[in-house]
Amino acid sequence: MDGIDVKEIQPTSPGASEQSGAKGRTPVPELLFGDLWDYAPAPQNTSHVKIAPRYEHFIGGEFVAGTGYFSTLNPATEERLSEVPAADDEMVDRAVRAAREAFDKRWSKLPGSERGKVLYRIGRALQERSRELACLETMDNGKPIKESRDVDVPLAAAHFLYYAGWADKLDYALPGATVSPLGVCGQVIPWNFPLLMAAWKIAPALAAGNTVVLKPAETTPLTAALLTEIFQEAGVPPGVINIIFGAGASGAALVRHPDLNKVAFTGSTEVGRAIQRTLAGSKKRLTLELGGKGANIIFDDAPLDQAIEGVVEGIYFNQGHVCCAGSRLFVQENVLETVLRKLTHRLASLRVGDPLDKNTDVGAINSSEQLEKIRSYVDIGCAEGAQMHQLACELPDKGFFFRPTFFTNVVPAHRIAREEIFGPVLAIQTFRTPDEAVQKANNSPYGLSAGIWTDKGSKLFAMAKALHAGVIWGNTFNKFDPASPFGGFKESGFGREGGLHGLLPYMEVRG
Ligand code: NAD
Repeated sequence: MDGIDVKEIQPTSPGASEQSGAKGRTPVPELLFGDLWDYAPAPQNTSHVKIAPRYEHFIGGEFVAGTGYFSTLNPATEERLSEVPAADDEMVDRAVRAAREAFDKRWSKLPGSERGKVLYRIGRALQERSRELACLETMDNGKPIKESRDVDVPLAAAHFLYYAGWADKLDYALPGATVSPLGVCGQVIPWNFPLLMAAWKIAPALAAGNTVVLKPAETTPLTAALLTEIFQEAGVPPGVINIIFGAGASGAALVRHPDLNKVAFTGSTEVGRAIQRTLAGSKKRLTLELGGKGANIIFDDAPLDQAIEGVVEGIYFNQGHVCCAGSRLFVQENVLETVLRKLTHRLASLRVGDPLDKNTDVGAINSSEQLEKIRSYVDIGCAEGAQMHQLACELPDKGFFFRPTFFTNVVPAHRIAREEIFGPVLAIQTFRTPDEAVQKANNSPYGLSAGIWTDKGSKLFAMAKALHAGVIWGNTFNKFDPASPFGGFKESGFGREGGLHGLLPYMEVRG
Protein backbone atom coordinates (compact mmCIF):
# COMPACT_ATOMS: atom_id res chain seq x y z
CA MET A 1 0.00 0.00 0.00
CA ASP A 2 2.74 2.42 -0.99
CA GLY A 3 1.83 6.07 -0.58
CA ILE A 4 -1.51 5.30 1.10
CA ASP A 5 -2.25 6.56 4.60
CA VAL A 6 -3.36 3.43 6.46
CA LYS A 7 -4.08 3.34 10.16
CA GLU A 8 -2.67 -0.04 11.04
CA ILE A 9 -4.29 -2.11 13.76
CA GLN A 10 -1.76 -4.28 15.53
CA PRO A 11 -2.95 -7.83 16.18
CA THR A 12 -3.37 -8.74 19.84
CA SER A 13 -3.31 -12.02 21.71
CA PRO A 14 -6.72 -13.57 22.42
CA GLY A 15 -6.79 -12.54 26.08
CA ALA A 16 -5.97 -8.87 25.65
CA SER A 17 -8.40 -6.38 27.15
CA GLU A 18 -9.37 -3.00 25.75
CA GLN A 19 -6.64 -0.43 26.40
CA SER A 20 -8.94 2.31 27.56
CA GLY A 21 -12.50 2.94 28.51
CA ALA A 22 -13.15 -0.67 29.56
CA LYS A 23 -14.84 0.39 32.78
CA GLY A 24 -15.66 -2.43 35.15
CA ARG A 25 -13.38 -4.93 33.43
CA THR A 26 -10.70 -6.82 35.27
CA PRO A 27 -7.35 -5.88 33.73
CA VAL A 28 -5.58 -8.88 32.22
CA PRO A 29 -2.14 -9.28 33.82
CA GLU A 30 0.59 -8.75 31.21
CA LEU A 31 2.66 -11.55 32.68
CA LEU A 32 -0.05 -14.11 32.19
CA PHE A 33 -1.12 -13.12 28.71
CA GLY A 34 0.53 -10.19 26.96
CA ASP A 35 2.29 -11.39 23.83
CA LEU A 36 2.85 -14.85 25.22
CA TRP A 37 -0.60 -16.33 24.84
CA ASP A 38 -1.66 -17.43 21.41
CA TYR A 39 -3.71 -20.25 19.96
CA ALA A 40 -1.80 -23.37 18.99
CA PRO A 41 -2.45 -24.50 15.42
CA ALA A 42 -5.65 -26.56 15.23
CA PRO A 43 -5.61 -28.02 11.72
CA GLN A 44 -8.65 -29.90 10.52
CA ASN A 45 -7.81 -33.44 9.42
CA THR A 46 -8.78 -33.88 5.76
CA SER A 47 -7.61 -37.47 5.26
CA HIS A 48 -11.23 -38.61 4.91
CA VAL A 49 -11.85 -36.30 1.95
CA LYS A 50 -11.33 -38.07 -1.34
CA ILE A 51 -11.16 -35.71 -4.31
CA ALA A 52 -11.26 -37.33 -7.75
CA PRO A 53 -8.87 -35.89 -10.34
CA ARG A 54 -11.89 -35.17 -12.57
CA TYR A 55 -15.69 -34.90 -12.19
CA GLU A 56 -18.32 -35.22 -14.90
CA HIS A 57 -21.77 -33.77 -15.52
CA PHE A 58 -24.57 -35.59 -13.70
CA ILE A 59 -27.43 -36.08 -16.14
CA GLY A 60 -30.32 -38.55 -15.99
CA GLY A 61 -28.75 -40.22 -12.96
CA GLU A 62 -25.49 -40.94 -14.79
CA PHE A 63 -22.09 -39.30 -15.04
CA VAL A 64 -21.65 -37.94 -18.55
CA ALA A 65 -18.22 -37.04 -19.93
CA GLY A 66 -18.02 -33.53 -21.30
CA THR A 67 -15.55 -31.25 -23.04
CA GLY A 68 -13.57 -28.12 -22.21
CA TYR A 69 -12.34 -29.29 -18.79
CA PHE A 70 -11.05 -26.59 -16.45
CA SER A 71 -9.38 -26.73 -13.03
CA THR A 72 -10.72 -25.74 -9.67
CA LEU A 73 -8.15 -24.41 -7.17
CA ASN A 74 -7.81 -24.28 -3.43
CA PRO A 75 -7.73 -20.47 -2.97
CA ALA A 76 -5.76 -20.79 0.27
CA THR A 77 -2.87 -22.67 -1.37
CA GLU A 78 -3.39 -22.04 -5.11
CA GLU A 79 -3.11 -25.81 -5.59
CA ARG A 80 -5.22 -27.54 -8.19
CA LEU A 81 -7.90 -29.71 -6.58
CA SER A 82 -9.67 -31.27 -9.55
CA GLU A 83 -11.23 -30.45 -12.91
CA VAL A 84 -14.74 -30.31 -14.34
CA PRO A 85 -16.13 -29.96 -17.87
CA ALA A 86 -17.88 -26.89 -19.31
CA ALA A 87 -21.39 -27.62 -20.57
CA ASP A 88 -22.15 -26.47 -24.11
CA ASP A 89 -25.58 -26.08 -25.75
CA GLU A 90 -25.74 -29.78 -26.55
CA MET A 91 -24.97 -30.83 -22.97
CA VAL A 92 -27.48 -28.32 -21.61
CA ASP A 93 -30.10 -29.72 -23.96
CA ARG A 94 -29.34 -33.25 -22.83
CA ALA A 95 -29.74 -32.23 -19.18
CA VAL A 96 -33.01 -30.35 -19.80
CA ARG A 97 -34.41 -33.31 -21.76
CA ALA A 98 -33.49 -35.66 -18.89
CA ALA A 99 -35.20 -33.31 -16.43
CA ARG A 100 -38.30 -33.07 -18.66
CA GLU A 101 -38.61 -36.83 -18.96
CA ALA A 102 -38.17 -37.27 -15.22
CA PHE A 103 -40.82 -34.61 -14.58
CA ASP A 104 -43.37 -36.09 -17.01
CA LYS A 105 -42.87 -39.75 -16.22
CA ARG A 106 -41.74 -39.93 -12.62
CA TRP A 107 -41.45 -37.01 -10.24
CA SER A 108 -44.70 -35.17 -10.88
CA LYS A 109 -46.59 -38.48 -10.57
CA LEU A 110 -45.14 -39.33 -7.15
CA PRO A 111 -47.28 -38.61 -4.07
CA GLY A 112 -45.89 -35.75 -1.99
CA SER A 113 -45.12 -38.13 0.87
CA GLU A 114 -42.77 -40.10 -1.42
CA ARG A 115 -41.03 -36.92 -2.61
CA GLY A 116 -40.69 -35.93 1.05
CA LYS A 117 -38.93 -39.20 1.85
CA VAL A 118 -36.32 -38.55 -0.84
CA LEU A 119 -35.70 -35.05 0.53
CA TYR A 120 -35.41 -36.38 4.08
CA ARG A 121 -32.86 -38.91 2.90
CA ILE A 122 -30.80 -36.17 1.24
CA GLY A 123 -30.93 -34.07 4.43
CA ARG A 124 -29.88 -37.03 6.59
CA ALA A 125 -27.05 -37.93 4.17
CA LEU A 126 -25.78 -34.34 4.37
CA GLN A 127 -25.69 -34.64 8.14
CA GLU A 128 -23.94 -38.00 8.00
CA ARG A 129 -21.29 -36.72 5.61
CA SER A 130 -21.07 -33.29 7.19
CA ARG A 131 -17.35 -33.43 8.02
CA GLU A 132 -16.44 -34.44 4.49
CA LEU A 133 -18.68 -31.75 2.99
CA ALA A 134 -17.37 -29.06 5.35
CA CYS A 135 -13.74 -29.84 4.52
CA LEU A 136 -14.42 -29.95 0.80
CA GLU A 137 -16.31 -26.65 0.91
CA THR A 138 -13.48 -25.00 2.81
CA MET A 139 -10.84 -26.37 0.42
CA ASP A 140 -12.72 -25.31 -2.72
CA ASN A 141 -14.06 -21.99 -1.46
CA GLY A 142 -11.53 -20.71 1.13
CA LYS A 143 -14.05 -20.11 3.92
CA PRO A 144 -13.00 -20.98 7.50
CA ILE A 145 -13.73 -24.56 8.51
CA LYS A 146 -15.65 -23.35 11.56
CA GLU A 147 -18.10 -21.62 9.22
CA SER A 148 -18.53 -24.47 6.71
CA ARG A 149 -18.83 -26.90 9.65
CA ASP A 150 -21.21 -24.82 11.80
CA VAL A 151 -23.15 -22.78 9.22
CA ASP A 152 -23.04 -23.96 5.60
CA VAL A 153 -23.47 -27.71 6.02
CA PRO A 154 -25.99 -27.74 8.91
CA LEU A 155 -28.11 -25.08 7.17
CA ALA A 156 -27.99 -26.96 3.86
CA ALA A 157 -29.22 -30.13 5.61
CA ALA A 158 -31.86 -28.11 7.46
CA HIS A 159 -33.24 -26.79 4.15
CA PHE A 160 -33.72 -30.29 2.78
CA LEU A 161 -35.35 -31.47 6.02
CA TYR A 162 -37.58 -28.40 6.22
CA TYR A 163 -38.84 -28.69 2.63
CA ALA A 164 -39.24 -32.47 3.03
CA GLY A 165 -41.90 -31.54 5.57
CA TRP A 166 -43.78 -29.40 3.03
CA ALA A 167 -43.81 -31.98 0.22
CA ASP A 168 -47.02 -33.73 1.36
CA LYS A 169 -48.72 -30.60 2.73
CA LEU A 170 -48.85 -28.42 -0.37
CA ASP A 171 -52.64 -28.75 -0.57
CA TYR A 172 -52.86 -27.02 2.80
CA ALA A 173 -50.16 -24.41 2.15
CA LEU A 174 -52.54 -21.89 0.65
CA PRO A 175 -56.10 -22.42 1.92
CA GLY A 176 -58.67 -22.21 -0.90
CA ALA A 177 -56.08 -22.52 -3.66
CA THR A 178 -54.91 -25.51 -5.65
CA VAL A 179 -51.25 -25.79 -6.46
CA SER A 180 -49.23 -27.72 -9.01
CA PRO A 181 -45.55 -27.84 -9.99
CA LEU A 182 -44.20 -25.72 -12.83
CA GLY A 183 -42.05 -28.31 -14.61
CA VAL A 184 -38.33 -28.07 -15.34
CA CYS A 185 -36.28 -25.44 -13.48
CA GLY A 186 -32.88 -24.09 -14.58
CA GLN A 187 -30.89 -22.96 -11.54
CA VAL A 188 -27.63 -21.00 -11.53
CA ILE A 189 -25.74 -20.34 -8.29
CA PRO A 190 -22.70 -18.32 -7.11
CA TRP A 191 -19.47 -19.30 -5.34
CA ASN A 192 -19.88 -17.73 -1.92
CA PHE A 193 -22.09 -20.45 -0.36
CA PRO A 194 -21.85 -23.24 -2.94
CA LEU A 195 -23.50 -26.07 -1.00
CA LEU A 196 -26.01 -23.88 0.81
CA MET A 197 -27.13 -22.15 -2.40
CA ALA A 198 -27.59 -25.56 -4.05
CA ALA A 199 -29.80 -26.59 -1.12
CA TRP A 200 -31.78 -23.32 -1.26
CA LYS A 201 -32.49 -23.98 -4.92
CA ILE A 202 -33.02 -27.74 -5.11
CA ALA A 203 -35.02 -28.41 -1.92
CA PRO A 204 -38.09 -26.18 -2.55
CA ALA A 205 -38.14 -27.02 -6.28
CA LEU A 206 -38.28 -30.76 -5.60
CA ALA A 207 -40.71 -30.44 -2.69
CA ALA A 208 -43.14 -28.68 -5.03
CA GLY A 209 -42.81 -31.48 -7.62
CA ASN A 210 -40.43 -29.88 -10.13
CA THR A 211 -37.25 -31.31 -11.61
CA VAL A 212 -34.03 -29.29 -11.92
CA VAL A 213 -30.88 -28.62 -13.88
CA LEU A 214 -28.40 -26.82 -11.62
CA LYS A 215 -25.16 -25.12 -12.59
CA PRO A 216 -22.70 -24.35 -9.77
CA ALA A 217 -20.20 -21.50 -10.06
CA GLU A 218 -17.00 -22.19 -11.97
CA THR A 219 -14.65 -21.69 -8.98
CA THR A 220 -16.60 -23.91 -6.55
CA PRO A 221 -17.94 -27.05 -8.25
CA LEU A 222 -16.77 -29.67 -5.74
CA THR A 223 -19.53 -29.86 -3.14
CA ALA A 224 -22.07 -30.04 -5.98
CA ALA A 225 -20.01 -32.91 -7.40
CA LEU A 226 -20.13 -34.68 -4.03
CA LEU A 227 -23.86 -34.00 -3.84
CA THR A 228 -24.36 -36.17 -6.92
CA GLU A 229 -23.15 -39.19 -4.90
CA ILE A 230 -25.54 -38.24 -2.12
CA PHE A 231 -28.44 -37.99 -4.58
CA GLN A 232 -27.68 -41.48 -5.85
CA GLU A 233 -27.46 -42.87 -2.29
CA ALA A 234 -30.69 -41.10 -1.33
CA GLY A 235 -32.55 -42.72 -4.22
CA VAL A 236 -33.30 -39.57 -6.20
CA PRO A 237 -34.93 -40.94 -9.37
CA PRO A 238 -32.80 -40.44 -12.53
CA GLY A 239 -33.20 -37.03 -14.14
CA VAL A 240 -34.91 -35.36 -11.17
CA ILE A 241 -31.70 -33.49 -10.26
CA ASN A 242 -29.15 -32.82 -13.00
CA ILE A 243 -25.87 -30.99 -12.35
CA ILE A 244 -23.93 -29.43 -15.19
CA PHE A 245 -20.63 -27.59 -14.79
CA GLY A 246 -19.20 -24.56 -16.51
CA ALA A 247 -18.76 -20.79 -16.32
CA GLY A 248 -20.96 -17.93 -17.52
CA ALA A 249 -21.40 -19.31 -21.05
CA SER A 250 -22.83 -22.56 -19.66
CA GLY A 251 -25.15 -20.60 -17.37
CA ALA A 252 -26.30 -18.48 -20.31
CA ALA A 253 -26.93 -21.60 -22.40
CA LEU A 254 -29.03 -23.04 -19.59
CA VAL A 255 -31.23 -20.01 -18.98
CA ARG A 256 -32.00 -19.54 -22.68
CA HIS A 257 -33.03 -23.19 -23.21
CA PRO A 258 -36.59 -23.04 -24.59
CA ASP A 259 -37.94 -25.98 -22.61
CA LEU A 260 -37.46 -24.53 -19.13
CA ASN A 261 -40.50 -23.47 -17.13
CA LYS A 262 -38.58 -21.53 -14.56
CA VAL A 263 -35.19 -19.93 -14.00
CA ALA A 264 -33.82 -19.30 -10.51
CA PHE A 265 -30.63 -17.27 -10.38
CA THR A 266 -28.42 -16.17 -7.50
CA GLY A 267 -25.46 -14.00 -8.39
CA SER A 268 -24.50 -10.49 -9.41
CA THR A 269 -26.99 -7.80 -10.36
CA GLU A 270 -25.22 -7.36 -13.70
CA VAL A 271 -25.77 -11.01 -14.73
CA GLY A 272 -29.28 -10.94 -13.25
CA ARG A 273 -30.13 -8.05 -15.58
CA ALA A 274 -28.80 -9.98 -18.59
CA ILE A 275 -30.91 -13.01 -17.65
CA GLN A 276 -34.00 -10.85 -17.24
CA ARG A 277 -33.44 -9.49 -20.76
CA THR A 278 -33.00 -13.03 -22.14
CA LEU A 279 -36.22 -14.21 -20.55
CA ALA A 280 -38.35 -11.18 -21.42
CA GLY A 281 -41.41 -12.28 -23.39
CA SER A 282 -40.89 -15.99 -22.71
CA LYS A 283 -43.15 -18.30 -20.70
CA LYS A 284 -40.41 -18.85 -18.13
CA ARG A 285 -40.91 -17.77 -14.55
CA LEU A 286 -37.94 -15.99 -12.99
CA THR A 287 -36.57 -15.30 -9.52
CA LEU A 288 -33.43 -13.25 -8.98
CA GLU A 289 -31.37 -13.16 -5.77
CA LEU A 290 -28.77 -10.50 -6.51
CA GLY A 291 -26.25 -8.22 -4.86
CA GLY A 292 -26.52 -6.03 -1.80
CA LYS A 293 -25.01 -3.22 0.25
CA GLY A 294 -26.59 -3.88 3.63
CA ALA A 295 -26.90 -1.19 6.30
CA ASN A 296 -25.98 -2.06 9.88
CA ILE A 297 -27.30 0.72 12.13
CA ILE A 298 -26.09 1.29 15.70
CA PHE A 299 -28.05 3.63 17.99
CA ASP A 300 -26.52 5.18 21.08
CA ASP A 301 -28.78 3.11 23.35
CA ALA A 302 -27.60 -0.20 21.84
CA PRO A 303 -25.68 -2.82 23.78
CA LEU A 304 -22.42 -1.80 22.14
CA ASP A 305 -20.28 -4.88 22.83
CA GLN A 306 -23.03 -7.03 21.34
CA ALA A 307 -23.34 -4.63 18.40
CA ILE A 308 -19.60 -4.87 17.69
CA GLU A 309 -19.97 -8.66 17.45
CA GLY A 310 -22.80 -8.03 14.97
CA VAL A 311 -20.63 -5.67 12.94
CA VAL A 312 -17.83 -8.27 12.79
CA GLU A 313 -20.33 -11.00 11.90
CA GLY A 314 -21.91 -8.67 9.37
CA ILE A 315 -18.81 -7.86 7.32
CA TYR A 316 -16.00 -10.31 8.15
CA PHE A 317 -18.09 -13.53 8.12
CA ASN A 318 -17.17 -15.53 4.99
CA GLN A 319 -14.53 -12.85 4.12
CA GLY A 320 -17.41 -10.48 3.38
CA HIS A 321 -18.45 -12.63 0.40
CA VAL A 322 -22.05 -12.35 1.53
CA CYS A 323 -24.83 -10.76 -0.52
CA CYS A 324 -26.54 -9.58 2.68
CA ALA A 325 -23.28 -8.43 4.36
CA GLY A 326 -23.55 -5.38 6.61
CA SER A 327 -21.03 -3.56 4.44
CA ARG A 328 -22.28 -0.10 5.40
CA LEU A 329 -22.14 0.75 9.10
CA PHE A 330 -24.14 3.73 10.35
CA VAL A 331 -23.27 4.82 13.89
CA GLN A 332 -25.13 7.43 15.93
CA GLU A 333 -22.69 10.31 16.11
CA ASN A 334 -22.40 10.55 19.90
CA VAL A 335 -21.16 6.96 20.23
CA LEU A 336 -18.86 6.93 17.19
CA GLU A 337 -15.68 7.25 19.22
CA THR A 338 -16.64 4.37 21.53
CA VAL A 339 -17.74 2.17 18.63
CA LEU A 340 -14.51 2.80 16.72
CA ARG A 341 -12.41 2.02 19.78
CA LYS A 342 -14.28 -1.21 20.44
CA LEU A 343 -14.27 -2.22 16.79
CA THR A 344 -10.52 -1.59 16.53
CA HIS A 345 -9.97 -3.69 19.63
CA ARG A 346 -12.15 -6.53 18.30
CA LEU A 347 -10.55 -6.42 14.85
CA ALA A 348 -7.12 -6.80 16.44
CA SER A 349 -8.09 -10.23 17.74
CA LEU A 350 -9.35 -11.63 14.41
CA ARG A 351 -7.26 -14.49 13.10
CA VAL A 352 -6.67 -14.43 9.37
CA GLY A 353 -5.10 -17.37 7.57
CA ASP A 354 -5.40 -21.09 6.90
CA PRO A 355 -9.13 -21.78 6.47
CA LEU A 356 -8.61 -25.37 7.60
CA ASP A 357 -7.38 -24.17 11.01
CA LYS A 358 -10.30 -24.39 13.44
CA ASN A 359 -9.30 -21.07 15.06
CA THR A 360 -9.30 -19.08 11.83
CA ASP A 361 -11.88 -16.27 11.68
CA VAL A 362 -11.16 -14.92 8.19
CA GLY A 363 -10.06 -17.34 5.48
CA ALA A 364 -9.05 -16.97 1.84
CA ILE A 365 -10.63 -14.78 -0.82
CA ASN A 366 -12.23 -17.14 -3.33
CA SER A 367 -10.21 -16.19 -6.42
CA SER A 368 -7.40 -13.95 -7.60
CA GLU A 369 -10.00 -11.97 -9.63
CA GLN A 370 -12.05 -11.26 -6.51
CA LEU A 371 -8.89 -10.30 -4.60
CA GLU A 372 -8.02 -7.81 -7.34
CA LYS A 373 -11.54 -6.39 -7.19
CA ILE A 374 -11.27 -5.87 -3.43
CA ARG A 375 -7.83 -4.27 -3.76
CA SER A 376 -9.07 -1.89 -6.43
CA TYR A 377 -12.02 -0.81 -4.25
CA VAL A 378 -9.69 -0.14 -1.33
CA ASP A 379 -7.53 2.03 -3.60
CA ILE A 380 -10.65 3.85 -4.76
CA GLY A 381 -11.71 4.45 -1.15
CA CYS A 382 -8.33 5.99 -0.31
CA ALA A 383 -8.29 8.08 -3.49
CA GLU A 384 -11.78 9.37 -2.65
CA GLY A 385 -10.48 10.66 0.68
CA ALA A 386 -11.77 8.07 3.14
CA GLN A 387 -9.49 6.97 5.99
CA MET A 388 -8.47 3.33 5.81
CA HIS A 389 -7.95 1.21 8.95
CA GLN A 390 -6.52 -2.26 8.49
CA LEU A 391 -5.43 -5.18 10.62
CA ALA A 392 -1.65 -5.41 10.30
CA CYS A 393 -1.57 -9.19 10.58
CA GLU A 394 0.78 -11.50 8.72
CA LEU A 395 -0.70 -13.32 5.75
CA PRO A 396 0.26 -16.77 4.41
CA ASP A 397 2.89 -16.71 1.64
CA LYS A 398 0.60 -18.44 -0.83
CA GLY A 399 -3.09 -18.09 -1.55
CA PHE A 400 -5.50 -15.18 -1.90
CA PHE A 401 -5.86 -13.30 1.36
CA PHE A 402 -6.99 -9.81 2.34
CA ARG A 403 -6.68 -8.13 5.73
CA PRO A 404 -9.93 -7.09 7.47
CA THR A 405 -10.38 -3.41 6.75
CA PHE A 406 -12.70 -0.53 7.59
CA PHE A 407 -13.01 3.01 6.34
CA THR A 408 -13.92 6.14 8.28
CA ASN A 409 -14.48 9.67 6.87
CA VAL A 410 -16.85 8.08 4.37
CA VAL A 411 -19.54 10.14 2.66
CA PRO A 412 -22.59 8.73 0.83
CA ALA A 413 -21.17 9.68 -2.57
CA HIS A 414 -18.07 7.49 -2.14
CA ARG A 415 -18.05 4.41 -4.32
CA ILE A 416 -17.04 2.25 -1.34
CA ALA A 417 -20.32 3.37 0.27
CA ARG A 418 -22.46 2.66 -2.79
CA GLU A 419 -21.06 -0.34 -4.66
CA GLU A 420 -20.88 -3.97 -3.61
CA ILE A 421 -17.23 -4.86 -2.83
CA PHE A 422 -17.95 -8.45 -1.75
CA GLY A 423 -14.93 -8.54 0.54
CA PRO A 424 -13.92 -7.82 4.18
CA VAL A 425 -14.18 -4.04 3.77
CA LEU A 426 -16.55 -1.93 5.85
CA ALA A 427 -17.59 1.69 5.13
CA ILE A 428 -18.54 3.63 8.30
CA GLN A 429 -20.77 6.70 8.34
CA THR A 430 -22.63 8.56 11.08
CA PHE A 431 -26.16 9.86 11.69
CA ARG A 432 -27.86 11.98 14.33
CA THR A 433 -31.56 11.04 14.20
CA PRO A 434 -33.53 7.90 13.27
CA ASP A 435 -34.89 9.72 10.19
CA GLU A 436 -31.39 10.49 9.01
CA ALA A 437 -30.40 6.83 9.54
CA VAL A 438 -33.36 5.67 7.45
CA GLN A 439 -32.68 8.21 4.71
CA LYS A 440 -29.00 7.26 4.49
CA ALA A 441 -29.62 3.50 4.71
CA ASN A 442 -32.31 3.60 2.01
CA ASN A 443 -30.09 5.71 -0.25
CA SER A 444 -28.88 2.67 -2.18
CA PRO A 445 -29.83 0.94 -5.41
CA TYR A 446 -29.87 -2.30 -3.39
CA GLY A 447 -32.45 -3.46 -0.87
CA LEU A 448 -31.44 -6.83 0.50
CA SER A 449 -30.58 -6.61 4.20
CA ALA A 450 -30.29 -4.33 7.22
CA GLY A 451 -29.47 -4.62 10.91
CA ILE A 452 -30.72 -2.40 13.74
CA TRP A 453 -29.04 -2.18 17.15
CA THR A 454 -31.03 -0.51 19.90
CA ASP A 455 -32.32 -1.18 23.38
CA LYS A 456 -35.80 0.09 22.45
CA GLY A 457 -38.25 -2.33 20.85
CA SER A 458 -40.48 0.49 19.58
CA LYS A 459 -37.55 2.12 17.80
CA LEU A 460 -36.52 -1.19 16.31
CA PHE A 461 -39.97 -1.86 14.84
CA ALA A 462 -40.38 1.70 13.56
CA MET A 463 -37.00 1.49 11.83
CA ALA A 464 -37.73 -1.96 10.38
CA LYS A 465 -40.92 -0.59 8.85
CA ALA A 466 -39.13 2.36 7.30
CA LEU A 467 -36.10 0.51 5.91
CA HIS A 468 -36.40 -0.74 2.37
CA ALA A 469 -34.73 -4.14 2.71
CA GLY A 470 -36.00 -7.68 2.28
CA VAL A 471 -34.34 -9.03 5.43
CA ILE A 472 -34.00 -6.99 8.62
CA TRP A 473 -32.28 -8.25 11.75
CA GLY A 474 -32.87 -6.72 15.20
CA ASN A 475 -29.89 -6.79 17.58
CA THR A 476 -28.29 -9.55 15.55
CA PHE A 477 -26.96 -10.02 12.03
CA ASN A 478 -26.52 -12.72 9.37
CA LYS A 479 -28.86 -15.21 11.02
CA PHE A 480 -30.57 -17.70 8.71
CA ASP A 481 -33.32 -20.25 9.14
CA PRO A 482 -34.96 -22.47 6.52
CA ALA A 483 -38.41 -21.43 7.75
CA SER A 484 -37.66 -17.73 7.26
CA PRO A 485 -37.97 -16.16 3.80
CA PHE A 486 -34.94 -14.40 2.31
CA GLY A 487 -34.74 -12.07 -0.68
CA GLY A 488 -34.49 -8.49 -1.79
CA PHE A 489 -36.05 -5.37 -3.24
CA LYS A 490 -34.82 -2.99 -5.93
CA GLU A 491 -31.57 -4.12 -7.59
CA SER A 492 -31.20 -6.94 -5.08
CA GLY A 493 -33.76 -8.89 -7.07
CA PHE A 494 -37.19 -10.40 -6.53
CA GLY A 495 -38.66 -13.65 -5.26
CA ARG A 496 -38.04 -15.27 -1.91
CA GLU A 497 -36.14 -18.35 -0.80
CA GLY A 498 -36.89 -20.12 2.48
CA GLY A 499 -40.17 -20.74 4.26
CA LEU A 500 -43.55 -21.03 2.58
CA HIS A 501 -42.63 -17.96 0.53
CA GLY A 502 -39.76 -19.97 -0.97
CA LEU A 503 -42.19 -22.58 -2.32
CA LEU A 504 -44.38 -20.08 -4.17
CA PRO A 505 -41.93 -19.38 -7.03
CA TYR A 506 -41.95 -23.13 -7.78
CA MET A 507 -45.72 -23.61 -7.87
CA GLU A 508 -48.62 -22.78 -10.16
CA VAL A 509 -51.28 -21.38 -7.83
CA ARG A 510 -54.96 -21.39 -8.90
CA GLY A 511 -57.99 -20.13 -7.08
P1 NAD B 1 -21.93 -13.94 -10.98
O1 NAD B 1 -23.19 -13.26 -11.36
O2 NAD B 1 -20.70 -13.58 -11.67
O3 NAD B 1 -22.09 -15.52 -11.17
C1 NAD B 1 -23.14 -16.24 -10.58
C2 NAD B 1 -23.40 -17.47 -11.40
O4 NAD B 1 -23.89 -17.07 -12.68
C3 NAD B 1 -22.18 -18.34 -11.67
O5 NAD B 1 -22.58 -19.69 -11.64
C4 NAD B 1 -21.77 -17.93 -13.08
O6 NAD B 1 -21.09 -18.93 -13.78
C5 NAD B 1 -23.12 -17.67 -13.71
N1 NAD B 1 -23.13 -16.74 -14.83
C6 NAD B 1 -22.22 -15.79 -15.16
N2 NAD B 1 -22.61 -15.14 -16.28
C7 NAD B 1 -23.80 -15.69 -16.65
C8 NAD B 1 -24.72 -15.43 -17.71
N3 NAD B 1 -24.49 -14.46 -18.60
N4 NAD B 1 -25.84 -16.15 -17.76
C9 NAD B 1 -26.12 -17.11 -16.85
N5 NAD B 1 -25.28 -17.42 -15.84
C10 NAD B 1 -24.14 -16.71 -15.72
O7 NAD B 1 -21.83 -13.76 -9.41
P2 NAD B 1 -20.72 -14.34 -8.45
O8 NAD B 1 -19.51 -13.49 -8.59
O9 NAD B 1 -20.57 -15.82 -8.62
O10 NAD B 1 -21.41 -14.14 -7.02
C11 NAD B 1 -21.36 -12.95 -6.36
C12 NAD B 1 -22.66 -12.20 -6.50
O11 NAD B 1 -23.75 -13.03 -6.07
C13 NAD B 1 -22.69 -11.00 -5.61
O12 NAD B 1 -23.20 -9.90 -6.29
C14 NAD B 1 -23.64 -11.42 -4.48
O13 NAD B 1 -24.25 -10.35 -3.84
C15 NAD B 1 -24.59 -12.30 -5.20
N6 NAD B 1 -25.28 -13.20 -4.27
C16 NAD B 1 -26.61 -12.95 -3.98
C17 NAD B 1 -27.29 -13.76 -3.07
C18 NAD B 1 -28.72 -13.48 -2.72
O14 NAD B 1 -29.38 -14.35 -2.15
N7 NAD B 1 -29.25 -12.30 -3.01
C19 NAD B 1 -26.64 -14.84 -2.48
C20 NAD B 1 -25.31 -15.07 -2.80
C21 NAD B 1 -24.64 -14.24 -3.71
